[in-house]
Formats: sequence, C-alpha cells, structure tokens
Amino acid sequence: MNEKKSHIIIFIIFIISIIGLSIVQYQYLRIGLNLAKVQFNEKMGLVVNNIKEGLKQPDELTFLVGKAITKDDTYFKLSIDSVHDASSYFMNDFLKDKLLQQGIKTEFTYTLTAKDSTDYLKSPNSYNNEESLLKYTIALDGYLPSLVKKRLVLELQFKNLNNYFLSQINGLTIPSLLFIVAIIFVIIWVLKSFYWQKNLITITNEFINNLTHELKTPVFSIGIATKILQEKTNNENKELVNMIRGQVDKLKNQIEKVLELASLEGKKNFIEKKVIDFKPIILKLIKDFEQLAVLENINFISEVKGSQFIINCEPYHLENAINSLLDNANKYSKENIKIILLVFKDKNKLFISVKDNGIGITDEDKKKIFDKYFRISAGDVHNVKGYGLGLNYVKRIVKLHKGTIAVKSKLGEGSEFIFSLPLYNNEKN
Ligand code: ADP
Repeated sequence: MNEKKSHIIIFIIFIISIIGLSIVQYQYLRIGLNLAKVQFNEKMGLVVNNIKEGLKQPDELTFLVGKAITKDDTYFKLSIDSVHDASSYFMNDFLKDKLLQQGIKTEFTYTLTAKDSTDYLKSPNSYNNEESLLKYTIALDGYLPSLVKKRLVLELQFKNLNNYFLSQINGLTIPSLLFIVAIIFVIIWVLKSFYWQKNLITITNEFINNLTHELKTPVFSIGIATKILQEKTNNENKELVNMIRGQVDKLKNQIEKVLELASLEGKKNFIEKKVIDFKPIILKLIKDFEQLAVLENINFISEVKGSQFIINCEPYHLENAINSLLDNANKYSKENIKIILLVFKDKNKLFISVKDNGIGITDEDKKKIFDKYFRISAGDVHNVKGYGLGLNYVKRIVKLHKGTIAVKSKLGEGSEFIFSLPLYNNEKN
C-alpha cells in the first residue's frame, strides 16, 4: 500500500517536472521570439535608412523608375508597360539587396505610391490580402519626389514573420525539444529497470524462502534421528554421531539465517517488537553457550551487570544476533579459544559486547564485513564454513532496534563486536 503510494508520488513528481520543464522552455522560446522581433526592427531601421539614401540621387534605377512613374517612353525604344515591368523588377532587386546586407532573407513585397494614393509601382509578386502584413513605410526624398512633384512613399510589406522568427531560433527549439524527449526516455528507462530489479529481488527472495522451507523439514528429521541415535549408540560410534549432530545443527542455523534475511529483505517493519526484560533471555543464552563451550573446549567468560534490561525488542531475532556473534568468535579463533561476553548499561543504553582472541580483522576488511555475502578470503579462512550473511543479519537486526554496532579488531590478536540498544525508558515512542 505504502509502496504503491510512493510509486504514485514519484509518477506525479515526474509528470509535474516534465510539464514544468516544458513551460519553462516555452517561456524561453517566447523570450527568444520577442528578442528576434526586436533585432528585426533594429535591422529594418538601418534598411529603411539605406533605401532612403540609395533612392535619393538620380542613377540607373531611379532614372528607370522615374520614367515608369511619369509614363515617359521617349527615352527607350520600349512600350511604357515594359519600362514599368523592368523598373518593378529592378526596384525589387535593389530592395532585396538592401535587406540582404542586414542579413534579412525573408520574403517581402513593396508598393511605391504618392501621398494622394496613386499607385506607381508594385513588386512583381505583391500580396493580395493585406491583413497580417507587417509594413515599413519610407518617405522618399530627392530625385523621384521632385520629378513627379508629389510626396512619394515606398512601403515594404512582410508576411508570416512569425515563421521566419521561429526558423531563426530553431537552433534553440529543436535541441531543447530533443533534450526533453531524451530526459523522458532516460527517466522511463531508469524507472523501468528499477521496478524490474525490485521484481527480481522479490522473486529471488520467494525462491530462497521456498527452498529453505523445503530444506528445513528433512534437516529437522535428521536432527531428531541423530538425537535418538546419540542416546542408543555405543561408544565406538559416538564420535561419528556427535559429528553428524554438530553438522546438522550448523546446517539448521544457516538455513534459519538465510530464511531470516530473505524475510527481512525489503520489509522494514518485519519485526514486531514488544517491551520486555531481556535479562532472562541473555542468561538462558549464556547457559546454552556455556554447555557448548565445555564440549568445544572454549574458555567462555560472561559478565552481566544490571538488575533488568527493559527494551523494546523482538527477542527471537536479538537472541539470534548475539548467537551469531558468539558463533563467529568461535569460528574465527584457532586455539586456546577465549570468548568474553559482556552485558551492561550505560547512559540509557544497553551494551552487548562479544570479544575473542581469534584471528582478527584488518582495517580494510572491517569496512566490508557487514556487507551481504562478504567473506574475508585471505589465508585459511575458507576452511571455515559460512555464507557471509551472519554479520549483515546482525547489523540489520541492531538497526531495526534503533541501535548501533561497532567492531574493534587487530589482525592476529582478536576482535570485539559491540552493539548498543536504547533502553525502553529512553525511547520516545
Ligand atoms: P560468515 O561467518 O558466514 O562468513 P559473517 O557475515 O558472519 O559471515 O562474517 C563475515 C566475515 O567477517 C567472515 O567471513 C570473517 O572473515 C569475518 N569475521 C566475522 N567475525 C569475525 C571474528 N570474530 N573474527 C575474525 N573475523 C571475523
């Protein structure tokens, strides 16, 4: 349910971000468009001046235009219509050139009219409908107005300038669109592989769960059978049966650990805590380990300080965690094994320390030993059986109890694992 909610929240954030990004891009585009318009107007200011200057004096163009607008065909051996057409084309080329000088390549039309609205000259491809045209008027002076003795106005007209501006800022629009699409693609891909991986972890855990449950029953039966055998067997075979029993117990423990880790995976609230006095459980655990210590010739020392240890905990897992530390202390020591278990209270915390005189751990490995499946590979450590799950399990359990765990160790001298848990009266909830 919670997971579903967080998926929905992530999805909503994703959609909002994409919409937000698109709006920002759109605003940038509008600003770009406005800037392009301002720039166009500035350029047109220069174009207007240049045209005005260019048409002031009599030259080939103004002479031809002058003949066309005064309908004077005496100079050319051409009809007045041909003179008109020719001047219309030349004027068009002249204006095109002036626009190009300022880098304006868009289409345009023009009209040359007198103030009394007599049409003199039009561009060859003039627009019919005059709406939405952007117009620039140039009042001519010099040679042409004095020729017709009227005030002459040249008007430049532009159509569809928005498309022109958009094409100018295409260098921004297309990449920003491409980047947005790329971001969407990458996010979808990451989310997809994330959910796919999560699914895979769930499937793996289910598989481990099923497998370990399947293994538990036969191991349990073998355990009972060896126990019965242990009672009935003669001295000659006792050692063998003891060995079988010992190994079966180890196998049972490993199965439990794998099962616990698989169940804990992804379930933060897996354990159900209750407020209890943990002291009797520790005393029982010490008693059990003392028996093993006698059997395995371990010098086991324990010290429990304090009348009661009230903590909010899941006793089964906590007991398992301490057993794992004791088990490791035994596993990773060679001879004259000495294990010390200390339990004491300090500053509203319960401290549990397991110390050994074993092989020790290097500083480099200390950082990794709590990682899942990590095992120190140097020397003859591989002779000791394990899966690199124990310490990871211990750390998870300690964390779920809002505690902390630390390790002190020196290679060849031994190790001490110490964890602390908050005592109940110190907990706020
Ligand atoms: P496992 O014992 O199954 O390999 P653990 O997670 O319990 O897995 O331990 C990880 C590694 O940390 C072990 O392989 C061992 O190399 C090292 N280690 C754990 N406890 C001790 C210890 N008390 N002394 C020395 N090394 C230890």
